[in-house]
Amino acid sequence: MQKNLKFKAAGKSLEKSEIDRKDAETGIVDMDGAISYLKTTRPTFYRWLRSGKLKGMKVGRQWRFYKDELDRFLKGESPRIDLSASPDPLLGFISEKLTELGAKSAIQTGNDKLKSIISGIISLGYFLRSSDIHLSPHPLAGDLMANHVLLRYRIDGVLRTAAEFDSRLLQPVIDEFKSMAKCDLHERQRPQDGRIIIKVDNDKKTLDLRACFLPSALGETVTIRILDSNAVKLDIDAMHISPNNLEKVHEALNQPSGMIIVSGPTGSGKTTVMYAFLHSFQKKDALKIISIEDPVEYMLEKTVQVGLNVPAGMTYINATRAVLRCDPDVIMNSEIRECDQLKLLQMATLTGHVTLSSMHAESAAATIRRLIDLSGDTMLTSDTIKFILSERLVRILCPSCSKESVPTTDIIGRASGMARSGGLDWSSLPHTYRMAVGCPKCAMLGYRGRRAIAETLKVTPEISALIRNNATLEEIQRTAIEQGMTTIVADGIRRFANGETTFEEVLRVTK
Ligand SMILES: [Zn+2]
Repeated sequence: MQKNLKFKAAGKSLEKSEIDRKDAETGIVDMDGAISYLKTTRPTFYRWLRSGKLKGMKVGRQWRFYKDELDRFLKGESPRIDLSASPDPLLGFISEKLTELGAKSAIQTGNDKLKSIISGIISLGYFLRSSDIHLSPHPLAGDLMANHVLLRYRIDGVLRTAAEFDSRLLQPVIDEFKSMAKCDLHERQRPQDGRIIIKVDNDKKTLDLRACFLPSALGETVTIRILDSNAVKLDIDAMHISPNNLEKVHEALNQPSGMIIVSGPTGSGKTTVMYAFLHSFQKKDALKIISIEDPVEYMLEKTVQVGLNVPAGMTYINATRAVLRCDPDVIMNSEIRECDQLKLLQMATLTGHVTLSSMHAESAAATIRRLIDLSGDTMLTSDTIKFILSERLVRILCPSCSKESVPTTDIIGRASGMARSGGLDWSSLPHTYRMAVGCPKCAMLGYRGRRAIAETLKVTPEISALIRNNATLEEIQRTAIEQGMTTIVADGIRRFANGETTFEEVLRVTK
């Protein structure tokens, strides 16, 4: 059978023996040859091939291997990668940007240009303080046949294009990321994801990365989330929550039982707040804390953390039922999504547990309405919900370049109105306004870092009565403000009047 195999090569058909002879001349072996050359087994060989430790080429349906590549492998060297476009413009750009950020030495300057690109892309993401790195191919304007790659970073919640480069460099870069994330290099049709642990800043800093590979119409894309556990402020007191809100948070966390909810839209920092709350429970040594998360993002001390696994039947409901049999004091569900899950948590609360969860809702009053609508039970809801923190994140002015400013009378008029209707005493504010400028330290953005603007609602007997009577969102909101709540918008105005952010930024995140 093997003998009769014929290959089409350069338009002519050649006998296999003829090909073998040619291969031998050029230092190429087939798979069996490679396996015996490396003295290994077929499964191990396949594993090396999938992980990218070994490089081969496919001719028709057969694999071929260069002898010198196999020698490189035996010497422990990584495969040679042909970059069909010059990496120099991209490398030049990255090193220029890192120099601007005062981190020139962060980039590797070895012979391996691909490794330099990878370390440069990640280092730039780290020094720009970005949460995500995005690499994806896009058509060039006016030429649908040609495409180029966009390198983008999400910084303080806003996506920024850093560089555009030759699309011929994308696949080698993606393959290198896949190999680092222990993904299958030859799988290009299906999504894959993996974890990368890497040192940056001359080995001073270890980063935990999650890489997601997604096949798109123009080729594969990769998105890398940077999980910087040091950036997560686990201490509530260090989170710059306004003093009025902070006092209510501490009071709520000292309750022996009840439901606590953190709400806001996607990307409003709910996870960070919940980790800080868990950390606060942790400090009380006598509590057993179990969290159910989708997925577990940061490891916490003295907390049992369970990751959701829906295909294996580990849904929020099943996991929570199991957790309830493990004698917990505090139970966290990273998000409330459905009626049965909410009811289970409400029942757990009634039996003396503290439950902590997040929810998608615009405000604290809207969270109460969602709880009533989702559970369909006003009595149960009013008996269980104790405290809600609802929040957004505003970008903070760069401390190196912002300068004093005098807002227009129109802006002062609008801001004072927003403060008063949100329960904040306008005249008590410091009124030290500042404006965004832009410098190399903030990548010319004028802003650097984010802080929460929040409202906290304690469920008082009056609010509880409103819930039992199925009150409207407006009624709940009005009563909460009468009882001392300052709204998210008003908290944003407070940061504006403190010179921490701008009026436009408050409008951007609260509209
Ligand atoms: Zn600046």
